[in-house]
Amino acid sequence: MKEMNAEMPAVGIMKLHEYPDAVWYDVACDCGSKDHFHSIWIMKDSETGLVEVNISTESTTDFWSKNLEYDYDDKFYWIKSVVDEIITRSKLIWKILIHGYVKRESHVLLNQQQAVNYANALLESVKSMTDGEKEKNETTSLG
Ligand SMILES: [Zn+2]
Repeated sequence: MKEMNAEMPAVGIMKLHEYPDAVWYDVACDCGSKDHFHSIWIMKDSETGLVEVNISTESTTDFWSKNLEYDYDDKFYWIKSVVDEIITRSKLIWKILIHGYVKRESHVLLNQQQAVNYANALLESVKSMTDGEKEKNETTSLG
């Protein structure tokens, strides 16, 4: 495998904001949908000096699943799709009622370069926050 280096600026990795003790990135899905993304917060606790990473995304139900047999050529497509959606939602309501939760899923597809950029964004952010801490500790121990 050809060795890949992180890009700067990085494809698919958007630095949205940088604060003194936090960096915020959005990672786009390689499929192109704006509905799939990772929102990453790399934060440093001012009291403990520990860095933590919070990765979040929005997940969806399996709204694409079909309960009825029909396709786009069906002359009753519109009606069947509405009925199908009602069945899907009813199943979800039933699952919540019986089990107390529903399974949801999300994905973020990364191409090879984007995966390297993602990893590098985490590494560099954590490093930049902990480097400052090391210098402070060294200064403190010297003084
Ligand atoms: Zn996607």
